[in-house]
Amino acid sequence: MLPLGKDIKKYMHKSTTIQVFTCNAFQENTYLVHHEKTAWLFDPGCVTQSEQAKILQYIQEHHLQVEKICITHSHIDHVLGLAWACEIFGIAPSVHALDMPTLLQVPNYAPMYGFQVALPNLDHAEILQTGQILQLQDIAFEVRFVPGHAPGHVAFVNHAEKYIISGDVLFKNSIGRTDLPGSDPEELPKSIRSQLYSLGDDFVVYAGHGTPTSIGKEKQNNPFVRA
Ligand SMILES: [Zn+2]
Ligand SMILES: [Zn+2]
Repeated sequence: MLPLGKDIKKYMHKSTTIQVFTCNAFQENTYLVHHEKTAWLFDPGCVTQSEQAKILQYIQEHHLQVEKICITHSHIDHVLGLAWACEIFGIAPSVHALDMPTLLQVPNYAPMYGFQVALPNLDHAEILQTGQILQLQDIAFEVRFVPGHAPGHVAFVNHAEKYIISGDVLFKNSIGRTDLPGSDPEELPKSIRSQLYSLGDDFVVYAGHGTPTSIGKEKQNNPFVRA
């Protein structure tokens, strides 16, 4: 029995529970969202045995069935555990077509960061479409296209429960980097304003790094992109 530790946080919404596992050297947030016994995994960055074991332990303790693995974008820190997760849960990832090249690049540059990364089998990958509605049982998630940090970056919006799983677009008092290959410094503020700031102030932002924030707080305080 592993101690879950302070790097694992839980947020309860009306119909879904969000479990955050902060993983790898980049302190990336891997999210497990579940409704009753059905779970979706977002951005599996779990790379060490202990990070993977904590996720499995949580799944087993709560008798969850992992049904989908969603990728906001395919930078190394968000996919370090992707091949592992796809294999162990027997599912293919869901990713935007414009981020497929980003994903295919990861094994090439991973050694620079000291990692050996395998890709999952992508033959049956689900290609996410802008505006698509994904159903976690009766809970709907809208796929919003938010390029700028990565070319095929998407955010998953739960309108009923007012939250977003948003990857590396908007952080508490910060925004995603735009100096990486495939980044676009002009596109990112546009994505934030049109796709995220257009949501209600009370929407919670579950970002790829750091603690959650809200749309209202960032519209007011974000030093990089104001409303
Ligand atoms: Zn990133
Ligand atoms: Zn990241």
